[in-house]
Amino acid sequence: MREVGLSEEALFTFLIERKKEDLSHSRILSSMCTPPHPVAVKAHELFIETNLGDPGLFPGTASLEKLLIQRIGTLFHLPKAEGYATSGGTESNIQALRIARYRSKSEKPNVVLPESVHFSFCKACDMLNIEMRPVPLDKNYRMDLDFAESVINEDTCCLVAVAGTTEYGKVDPIPALSEIALDKDIFFHVDAAFGGFVLPFMNNIPPFDFKCEGVSSIAVDPHKMGMSTIPTGCILVRDENMWNGLKVDTPYLSVKQEVTLVGTRPGGSVVGALAVLEYLGTKGMKAIVEGCMKNTDRLIRGMETFGYKRVVTPDVNVATFQDIEKVPDDWAVSWTRKGHLRIVCMPHVENYMIEKFLDEIGEINA
Ligand SMILES: *Cc1c(COP(=O)(O)O)cnc(C)c1O
Repeated sequence: MREVGLSEEALFTFLIERKKEDLSHSRILSSMCTPPHPVAVKAHELFIETNLGDPGLFPGTASLEKLLIQRIGTLFHLPKAEGYATSGGTESNIQALRIARYRSKSEKPNVVLPESVHFSFCKACDMLNIEMRPVPLDKNYRMDLDFAESVINEDTCCLVAVAGTTEYGKVDPIPALSEIALDKDIFFHVDAAFGGFVLPFMNNIPPFDFKCEGVSSIAVDPHKMGMSTIPTGCILVRDENMWNGLKVDTPYLSVKQEVTLVGTRPGGSVVGALAVLEYLGTKGMKAIVEGCMKNTDRLIRGMETFGYKRVVTPDVNVATFQDIEKVPDDWAVSWTRKGHLRIVCMPHVENYMIEKFLDEIGEINA
């Protein structure tokens, strides 16, 4: 480290120079994150010094976290769902598996999950020493029900489904999986990290949330479609007793016990998440989701006029295409494990960007 510090001017000149190396969001088509909504930034700044890891010192901030969970619980058809704000989908998924594992009596527990599951489950299963039992997808890129049922056994501590898969934007058959989970008394976690702030604002979607009686817990990420600042995820559970296995004593803090995975937790991004929901309301969220879905649809139809076929019709704003060899320069796009081009139509991906991308890929094709 420097012995004598930089002047503020020199420091910020240096930092801004490096920031210029980052990609502009006007070229980013690959990310599930998006620049935060201005009210999230404002709220984050207002709560910048707060620490939810020591809630007794910040009761006002802690009450806002509770309100955020209550709002999301209500959105997911269980206003009394209990939960907390995590650092993101990864932590939420780890926590769900911890709950499931402590609840199970098996010596060699396994988790039954779709092949499309997010890689955070690999980390969670590694940490918890749980066997992964991947279930292949059906032709619509959704978890195959019969196969799922056939690999569940007495050592299955958890069943996982995804509401809005990271790669293909599909929703697993959650109502039917919920029945299986109820029937076999298995903890059922729904990973709605991405879809959790898309699906509730769409019309005529099959239930994916606590409306399905077998759903035990849900992960959802405000720092994705919730347009909050990073880092904010949330995990909600059906019954507060589910937390019991995770409680540890916290001797020197203002509360006696905690269930969170991390200790010190930002209040700023959590209040940011609440701020977006309060400011936009369901009406505002619906308008944003509608815009993202319109752009997804436009992109798919535009690509197909060039002969680039969709892999599958997505349930949320993630579009994928087959047999693409080359994409125009200077766009950040991504590729699935199967080699399909993947584009996420986040709120920052405005219509003009889609049209520009289509023009450019059309020229390559011509
Ligand atoms: C993004 C995502 C995650 C991981 O969330 P992080 O916030 O990156 O930890 C987990 N599951 C799904 C379905 C996701 O889309």
